[in-house]
Amino acid sequence: MSENQSTQNTSSSTDKTAADLSSIDAVVIGAGFGGMYALHSLRESGLSVRVFDAAAGIGGTWWWNRYPGARVDFPGGPFYCYTFSEQLIQEWDWAETQPDQSSVLAYLNHVADKFDLRRNIQLNTHVESAVFDSTSQRWTIQTNQSETVSAQYLICALGTLSAANRPEIPGMETFTGQCYHTGQWPSDPVDFTGKRVGIIGTGSSGIQAIPLIAEAADQLTVFQRTPQFTIPSGNQPIDPALVQEARQDWPAMRQRMMKSPLGAPYTVSSLSAKDHTAEQRQAKYEQQWRKGSLGILFETYHDVLTNKESNAELAEFIRCKIRETVHDPLVAEKLLPNYHLGTKRQVLDNDYYATYNRDNVNLIDLRTNPILSINPTSISTKNSTTDSLDQHPLDMLILATGYDAITGAIQRLDPKGLDGISLSAQWSERFSTYLGMTIPNFPNLFMIHGPESPSVLFNMPLGAELQSDWIRDCIQHLKDNHQNTITASADAATAWSKEVENIASQTLYADTESWYTGANIPGKHRQFAVYLGGPAYYSKLADIAANDYPGFGLQPTDLK
Ligand code: NAP
Repeated sequence: MSENQSTQNTSSSTDKTAADLSSIDAVVIGAGFGGMYALHSLRESGLSVRVFDAAAGIGGTWWWNRYPGARVDFPGGPFYCYTFSEQLIQEWDWAETQPDQSSVLAYLNHVADKFDLRRNIQLNTHVESAVFDSTSQRWTIQTNQSETVSAQYLICALGTLSAANRPEIPGMETFTGQCYHTGQWPSDPVDFTGKRVGIIGTGSSGIQAIPLIAEAADQLTVFQRTPQFTIPSGNQPIDPALVQEARQDWPAMRQRMMKSPLGAPYTVSSLSAKDHTAEQRQAKYEQQWRKGSLGILFETYHDVLTNKESNAELAEFIRCKIRETVHDPLVAEKLLPNYHLGTKRQVLDNDYYATYNRDNVNLIDLRTNPILSINPTSISTKNSTTDSLDQHPLDMLILATGYDAITGAIQRLDPKGLDGISLSAQWSERFSTYLGMTIPNFPNLFMIHGPESPSVLFNMPLGAELQSDWIRDCIQHLKDNHQNTITASADAATAWSKEVENIASQTLYADTESWYTGANIPGKHRQFAVYLGGPAYYSKLADIAANDYPGFGLQPTDLK
């Protein structure tokens, strides 16, 4: 029997029609990589599942991020994809090592069709509230379609970078031209021809978009607050030999991925930078720079992200590349980053620095020339050299200003748990999860890529599969043992948060202002939001399941 057939046969018995929605086993919020696989996995185990997504199509991040230049920035190869289905691996051909947004969306649509996912996905539906009812021990979910759904389990696959950050700049609402956030890009093509475009933000999104907008627009003004290190993406056609190797023994390849720190079958260098001479190190950096992608961070020396000296030398190597590439030394100077390389989310680019050699591109350094206001047809900045006001006339404004990352989406949902406690109240000072998937006082609520899980620093499709399967097995355990709810204990969550923090403190990540620490959002407290222990996380999950779920409280089905 084919995988498709097996899926259809299993799930038809448990399928719920729209009319039947009042009571269902599981609601999944989000139809991106995580939510789609959670649906597949839970449905295969015989549960009735409904997925809600506010977008008009499936794909999550890959639905919304249609800005020019959006493409995968995971280490090259055919590995940023689902890994659970060997048939899918055999049949889907990726063209490039860093597929663009439309290719990833095409892939996800193929997956949705192949595994017949659409019949349980309700689009254009925003979940407005999720409240745990302590009497029925179920979640009540309300949508903007005036539906109320009762579900035993709530799976939040909300995305780590989905709560857009729209900065509060005086006069923002007065701008009369077109204005787009990169993460809420319109489906209709955006035409830059003949336009004076301004872009605020030089993170991954800005750096991917800037070279292409510069080519298409009349003028581009880049408003940069913090320069970022970026590395050539090295995007190229997929190596057929690598695909062949992966297809020949996919289970072995998948095992390699699961054991590697990033969830991709690449080996982290066993050398310290101290093992080589300065000349040898420069040769290694140069070789990796030419190759492109993240090899320069992970395949050169293992201590780049933990040792300040190793990090500083490589950072200076990249600064030299910026000075070499950008013709105007004053512009080059403004582009030089000053933080530990790799401790903000590493950006990969296509001709980013060279874009500043174009006559139609202007770089405004907001550290010396801050924005004073946004006006109907311009942005005003303060010129700190002349102490005057500079006006930048604009027809279009792009906000590449990022996200309230990792915790933002679930805090905006603000579920209510036991005794009506709201997540925002519980996390008002610090967030704390158990295993990055569950939260004390929130029974039967599971997060995919939640705070304090490996999430954005592991291969995200693979991570979502492993977490979803753990959730599926946990639910099966509850059923087998006549238990109705599972809730993380406060002690277990406190210990987990400490472990996450301890691991981060052994690296240079925690020293840097980044969205990993919440520093990009005004007023957000600083706390490292990613479990940096890599594959050890998944071994822990397996151990917890094998040992009857220590750290959790289980409540039996019969409440009376
Ligand atoms: P980001 O990395 O958070 O960058 C946001 C940019 O906006 C920063 O340069 C930030 O400056 C600037 N900014 C924010 N508020 C501002 C304000 N009030 N005034 C001036 N500048 C302001 O966001 P992003 O570029 O959207 O990327 C977020 C993450 O999404 C990435 O790190 C990556 O993980 C993911 N992503 C992935 C891909 C991919 O896989 N292909 C593509 C795009 C994004 P400061 O640095 O000074 O705060």
